[in-house]
Amino acid sequence: MAKYDVVVIGAGPAGYVAAIRCAQLGLRTACVDSWRNHDGGHALGGTCLNAGCIPSKVLLESSELYQQAQHGMAEHGITVGEVKLDLAQMHTRRREVVEALTGGIAGLFKTNKIDAYAGHGQLQVNNRVQVTPLDEGEPQVLEAEHVILASGSQPVDISVAPINGEQIVDSWGALEFPEVPKRLGVIGAGVIGLELGSVWRRLGAEVVLLEAQPDFLSLCDQDVAAQALKSYRRQGLDIRLGCRVTGSHATKRGVTVQYQDAEEQAQELKVDRLIVSVGRRPCTEGLAAGDVDLELDEKGYVDIDANCRTSLPKVWAIGDVVRGPMLAHKGSEEGIAVAERIAGQPGHVNYDAIPSVIYTHPELAWVGRTEAQLQRAGVDYRVGTFPYAASGRALALGEKEGLVKILADAATDQLLGVHIFGHSASEMIAEAVVAMEFGGSSEDLARTVHAHPTLSEAVHEAALAVDRRAIHIRNRR
Ligand code: FAD
Ligand code: NAD
Repeated sequence: MAKYDVVVIGAGPAGYVAAIRCAQLGLRTACVDSWRNHDGGHALGGTCLNAGCIPSKVLLESSELYQQAQHGMAEHGITVGEVKLDLAQMHTRRREVVEALTGGIAGLFKTNKIDAYAGHGQLQVNNRVQVTPLDEGEPQVLEAEHVILASGSQPVDISVAPINGEQIVDSWGALEFPEVPKRLGVIGAGVIGLELGSVWRRLGAEVVLLEAQPDFLSLCDQDVAAQALKSYRRQGLDIRLGCRVTGSHATKRGVTVQYQDAEEQAQELKVDRLIVSVGRRPCTEGLAAGDVDLELDEKGYVDIDANCRTSLPKVWAIGDVVRGPMLAHKGSEEGIAVAERIAGQPGHVNYDAIPSVIYTHPELAWVGRTEAQLQRAGVDYRVGTFPYAASGRALALGEKEGLVKILADAATDQLLGVHIFGHSASEMIAEAVVAMEFGGSSEDLARTVHAHPTLSEAVHEAALAVDRRAIHIRNRR
């Protein structure tokens, strides 16, 4: 029986990062992963690399270029001839980027002497892991001092719109449409709905998003969400809030969706394709053998303590299969922290400073708490905002839509939340995350020199605005 210090189950961004860090720390490490691509082949990287973060960002980038080539050049005085879409080439590029990255992980595993097993891993008693190979070879058992569970998540399906892989698809299917649907329906105007809805809208589809909640992006700061909603609607995303889907009927020619609108009127929507993006749920089926007492919480996540320890000795769990935001970087940081804890070091994840990004155009990014959360918690705070329209760099870029909003403690000035809707928000938020990680204040950001002309000056100005001393806007008292 092969023996390891650590066996990791799952090679998504939580599991593969944990495995690499374990190996760096001198632990003999194996990683078992059961990902299967649509062609049946195995690849490392989990949802993030194969069907999530990376392929969606490739298509977001390509579709934005297509949009810019069609509509964004004239104001710069550039006349472009007929712009044509080669969707097959766009998909080829998507696959190439994914293959480069998943192949890169295989290379990193080799360099770090991590044994990779392509198969389904199941936790058994005494920290043994049974591997059932994907190629249907004989199962084998690995012995481990420590096991890290990183089996990730999968899309939630709803009985009123069952996925059939053709007309009704989940987020993975929605990355692979062979042609641009004329009419596209999306159930759920959350992160996936907005990102993938944007991709296909930019490529020419009419897109309708049916969202059950009456509020748009209820987890975001509502000032910022309101601006984003206006912007998305202007882009042609038909976002319908407070809509409850009651049924659907798929035929070869398309899908008819029945729903109740916000006024509780029965409505019907006819589309060529339908994406169901109503959230994801943890993958725990078959993860532990029947006689292993692995505790799950009330929502079905593997139950863990603050340090990612499960109910079983020397069994840890990280990433989407445990509580917290379903984000690649959150899982990776937990993976690093757990590896360090196993090696006797103090691992660390600051759950109060995890950035979130929605990669629409403009992008939406935030870290920390929203105004509503602060109000609910009774925290006294001050607000500083700065619009992109007052930023020289934003105007030079032709990207004047958006704002930076900073929330700071009224008494101590400590940063409590930073919310950005605007071009490159995904990159700009990093400054706020670092400042919050260091326990920084709005005054710290205000006293930091920012290069001119950059978009990051908007963060500087929003920080000045907390104290009503922004330079390039009128400060309201
Ligand atoms: P996963 O990436 O799901 O990996 C788990 C792996 O474990 C998989 O390979 C799975 O096959 C394998 N596995 C499961 N059970 C077993 C078993 N019993 N034995 C062996 N292997 C097993 N997050 C971001 O931060 N940024 C983004 O831009 C972003 N975009 C996204 C876009 C889309 C369309 C989707 C769907 C998700 C996106 N996410 C994004 C979320 C992100 O993909 C997840 O948070 C992340 O992949 C979770 O990492 P993980 O390692 O926990 O799980
Ligand atoms: P989500 O939670 O972001 O959005 C789901 C939306 O569907 C919500 O607004 C919810 O109110 C709505 N909804 C739920 N049931 C519904 C129903 N029956 N009818 C209509 N609307 C309904 O989930 P998602 O968009 O599926 O994404 C899943 C996870 O993947 C997210 O938690 C996110 O963290 C992660 N993800 C992250 C990124 C990113 O970081 N950029 C991108 C994609 C996905």
